[in-house]
Amino acid sequence: MTKQRLSGWGRTAWTVSDTVVPADVEAIRTVVAASPHRGVIARGLGRSYGAAAQNAGGSVLLMPGTAVGAPYSLDDNTGIVTAPAGMSLDDILRDSVPRGWFVPVTPGTRFVTVGGAIASDIHGKNHHFDGSFGQHVRSMRVLLSSGEIVRLSPEENAAWFWATVGGMGLTGVVLDAEIRTLKIGSSRVRVETERLTDFDAVVAAMSSDGADDTYRYSVAWVDLVATGRSMGRGVLTRGDHATAAEAGGGDDVLAYDPKVRLAAPPWVPNQLLNKLSIKAFNEVWYRKAPSRRHVGIESIPTFFHPLDGVRQWNTLYGSQGFIQYQFIVPLGQVEVLRRVIEAFSGQGVASFLAVLKRMGPQNAAPMSFPTEGWTLTLDMAAGLRGLPELLARVDTMVLDAGGRHYLAKDSHVAPSAVRRGYPRFAEWQEVRAEMDPTGRWNSDLARRLGLMEKG
Ligand SMILES: Cc1cc2nc3c(=O)[nH]c(=O)nc-3n(C[C@H](O)[C@H](O)[C@H](O)COP(=O)(O)OP(=O)(O)OC[C@H]3O[C@@H](n4cnc5c(N)ncnc54)[C@H](O)[C@@H]3O)c2cc1C
Repeated sequence: MTKQRLSGWGRTAWTVSDTVVPADVEAIRTVVAASPHRGVIARGLGRSYGAAAQNAGGSVLLMPGTAVGAPYSLDDNTGIVTAPAGMSLDDILRDSVPRGWFVPVTPGTRFVTVGGAIASDIHGKNHHFDGSFGQHVRSMRVLLSSGEIVRLSPEENAAWFWATVGGMGLTGVVLDAEIRTLKIGSSRVRVETERLTDFDAVVAAMSSDGADDTYRYSVAWVDLVATGRSMGRGVLTRGDHATAAEAGGGDDVLAYDPKVRLAAPPWVPNQLLNKLSIKAFNEVWYRKAPSRRHVGIESIPTFFHPLDGVRQWNTLYGSQGFIQYQFIVPLGQVEVLRRVIEAFSGQGVASFLAVLKRMGPQNAAPMSFPTEGWTLTLDMAAGLRGLPELLARVDTMVLDAGGRHYLAKDSHVAPSAVRRGYPRFAEWQEVRAEMDPTGRWNSDLARRLGLMEKG
């Protein structure tokens, strides 16, 4: 075991854990048996923003690069991928795209593991169309704290399967999974881009009674700095995988070789991303988008993972780190969404990345974040004056509207926010306790939110 300082991608709450790269399943059993007090948690690539994959004073299993779990394979006839939990979507895509298959759901970065994708039940720009990651998992094998390995699927041990999907690593260690992938005709994406002048225009364009449901992928970037008549203006991008013909035909229609082009400088002044620089960036970004709908062909990295082009971009916020805030409110609560955006822009909180998405129906997992509604994601420098008070105000607006917060992004909500936001939380706790009767799994996030505590 090695003592290591760990944080999430937001680089805020650093703590020290005993880390282990398990050589095999037996090594995981040994760590679990030796960690009765502060417990154990699995960690993927550490792309959750808060403290979900760290465990102060306890143990952390570093899953990427281990030989734990079934070896990777892709069935060219069915598109079923079998992958060890520590494998990244990046590694899967490098093999599957040239063979004509795409991961069913990808977040805004391809540097997440299969285990992390299941534990957070991640969603992508296609949630309204395809649902979230867990809905594409055919089965998985999970190591329980008793040392037993169980096979879970929607048909076999269904309650345990759905408690693990979105269960933030607190039901057991996912060892491997079988995942259904999507057949694609090319490695390009047909993208329609449109500039929208204000909040009303953005919401109207993305509403289910418009054409939005006909696009597999749809997301809007929103300018949170704009005020007055431009408040909530945005750029909407929608599309689907291009056919081979749309991608220009030829031998290389499935070519895929994403590159990380730049590295963030190792030392960054704390005020680099401030209100002025973000305002300037937003203006350029908005003006750069075509004022009329424009159809183009983009590569997979440009459309899905633009931030992955800059290595360690999370250091750009300086030493204090940053907070990523993601919530969802039901479809009918557009006015609450407007008030939240007004609250952020009115208080001059600058967000470099603010993304709005309309989500489809909730799946069977009690702790899965997505549910039918509007989700807004934004990030802010952690040290901003007045930020805790502003977020507390917004939390109340979200929860009063019947909304909730995304645990994979969270670093600040109160324990009561989970109880109010997730109506099936107590049911999940019961199933979790069945799977882990001795209470061995734990994390800083679980302790802060009292996820193991009744009531
Ligand atoms: C730039 C960026 C963009 C993002 N965009 C999106 C997005 O669009 N949609 C979205 O949903 N999320 C998004 N995320 C969040 C990210 O997808 C999730 O936090 C994901 O869980 C990270 O995976 P990871 O492998 O890094 O896991 P970690 O962050 O290391 O861990 C996350 C959780 O998974 C658990 N876990 C990891 N491995 C295992 C395992 N083998 N068994 C059991 N539990 C395990 C951990 O205990 C922890 O609770 C984004 C993150 C970044 C940095």
